[in-house]
Amino acid sequence: MQKYDVAIIGAGLSGIVAARKLKQAGASVLLLEKEQTVGGRLATSITAEGKADIGAQFFTVRTEELQQEVEGWLEKGWVKRWFGEDYPRYTSVDGMSSLACRLAEGMDCVTSTMITAVNAQDSHIVLHDSSGSLYKCKRVVCTLPAPLTVNLIGKSSLGLKVEAYQKLKEIQFQPTYVGVFQLERSPYTPESGHIDKQLPADVERIVDHQKKGISKTPLMSVYMTADWSVSHESSESTLKMIKNKTSPYLDFRKLISEQLEIWPYAQAVTTCPHSFLEIDNRGKLLVAGDAFLRPGDQAGKTRFESAFLSGHDAANHILSDS
Ligand SMILES: Cc1cc2nc3c(=O)[nH]c(=O)nc-3n(C[C@H](O)[C@H](O)[C@H](O)COP(=O)(O)OP(=O)(O)OC[C@H]3O[C@@H](n4cnc5c(N)ncnc54)[C@H](O)[C@@H]3O)c2cc1C
Repeated sequence: MQKYDVAIIGAGLSGIVAARKLKQAGASVLLLEKEQTVGGRLATSITAEGKADIGAQFFTVRTEELQQEVEGWLEKGWVKRWFGEDYPRYTSVDGMSSLACRLAEGMDCVTSTMITAVNAQDSHIVLHDSSGSLYKCKRVVCTLPAPLTVNLIGKSSLGLKVEAYQKLKEIQFQPTYVGVFQLERSPYTPESGHIDKQLPADVERIVDHQKKGISKTPLMSVYMTADWSVSHESSESTLKMIKNKTSPYLDFRKLISEQLEIWPYAQAVTTCPHSFLEIDNRGKLLVAGDAFLRPGDQAGKTRFESAFLSGHDAANHILSDS
């Protein structure tokens, strides 16, 4: 059985940020991720001609902590200022998943491993994965979208704090459907390639990745609203419906390829007013992620920055406690 000071379940932004901070402070840390790559909702689809972001498109900065990091990322050439004045939108220079990969470089990380149980053993926690491997650690940070964390830890042999567990259960997410279309002809989009105004009903935004600078050909992501996504079961006709909605904007007569991405947990509609929760009676298991907002969070919604701050604060809590 492998032993670590801290195991982090989920290698999305919040998990990666927590892992980096703990590792920098000298802890032995293991990231455990069910997908083949890290990044979670920082996701990028790759075609022969280029890349399309299919989760987060950009991030904004309202805190000193993220500002400091972003200055380092700008210096290294990992991110660029994309558009916007009041709160500039920053984006990765080569797809949001590449930023996640860069941040996770050098971390101990096991991908393609789904954690299925979290149990107490003596003064430690033991994590079980779907292939039967066990990981023993002193502390755990669980960074899955909150409803998945509820499923995972609800059956745990760790004694859970009733009030904290209740707060966790109150967090609700909504889905988002994203259609990705490779077109022959470039549509009209503003210089940035990002449109979120005056779009047809039910369409939240359209992004042209050629103009974003990460595709050689017109490669478009079409984001449907949460309300539309909730009310449509995924079926063979989902992409057709998305195309019908956006046909005034995009010319589908010469469509080269299409893909549907479904995010069952895209954004939280109810959040938690703490940047993480210590959820078990012995203080060994923290839950974190983008739906955990610092008290007084200025934007008041789940986003790149809330995930960053949640991972950052959870790691600081562990360090101050060790
Ligand atoms: C369509 C969409 C558009 C968005 N647009 C923006 C935007 O433009 N700007 C912005 O700021 N934010 C945006 N967001 C939100 C932003 O992407 C998220 O807030 C942030 O990436 C969440 O990071 P996280 O680490 O909290 O969670 P996640 O990225 O969800 O990470 C959780 C990780 O846990 C893994 N996992 C799940 N279950 C298990 C298990 N049992 N065992 C092991 N691993 C597991 C998942 O695979 C995932 O990698 C968008 C999100 C979506 C979906």
